[in-house]
Amino acid sequence: MQQRYRSTRRPDHTLGNLQQVPDFFTSPPASVEQLIGARIREIPDFPTPGIAFKDITPLLADPPSFAVAVEAMAKPFAGCVDQVVGIEARGFILAAPIAYVLGAGVVPLRKEGRLPAPTFSEGYELEYGSAVLEVHRDAFHWGSRTLIVDDVLATGGTAAVAASLVEQAGGEVIGLSVLLELVGLNGRDKLVGREVHALLTA
Ligand code: AMP
Repeated sequence: MQQRYRSTRRPDHTLGNLQQVPDFFTSPPASVEQLIGARIREIPDFPTPGIAFKDITPLLADPPSFAVAVEAMAKPFAGCVDQVVGIEARGFILAAPIAYVLGAGVVPLRKEGRLPAPTFSEGYELEYGSAVLEVHRDAFHWGSRTLIVDDVLATGGTAAVAASLVEQAGGEVIGLSVLLELVGLNGRDKLVGREVHALLTA
């Protein structure tokens, strides 16, 4: 008999349990890409006309998909991360469990004016508009091995600024882990020389 969807089984929060994925399903085993991809929906013309917004909330709400996404985003960087940077706001949701899985700390990169202590600050253009990101000046120990996490890599402006801010604050960027890369927007061009891991591409 197949396991019910609402099984009492849960991921054990350790690396390397991706092989348990089929245990979560009543349907035949899916690949990680199928599992995750099926739970990212596209919202046309949000937040502005012409933008196809990739909405990850169905994935976040689904226990096995969320667990698999977190583990798969963490796995390539296992054993070499001291701190995980989450980019406001959806990056926070992924960065915290990824840091937990990696045994690392979490550092928030926030939009302008939201961090209480002195910050480094940098402005940039994104796929829809512009923004300023900030990080606490004392967020990192010198040379802290830092993984940057976000939901979507689009033009790469956000990730490039995140890397710059980490380095201004004394961290060493060891890589970037995203759920979804929009390859047509060439975000990697702004991240040349950096290790970028995308769970899915579109
Ligand atoms: P970019 O700086 O252009 O790479 O944009 C990446 C940031 O903007 C990430 O924090 C994403 O959450 C958000 N973003 C950009 N484009 C999209 C999109 N099409 N769907 C969802 N989020 C997006």
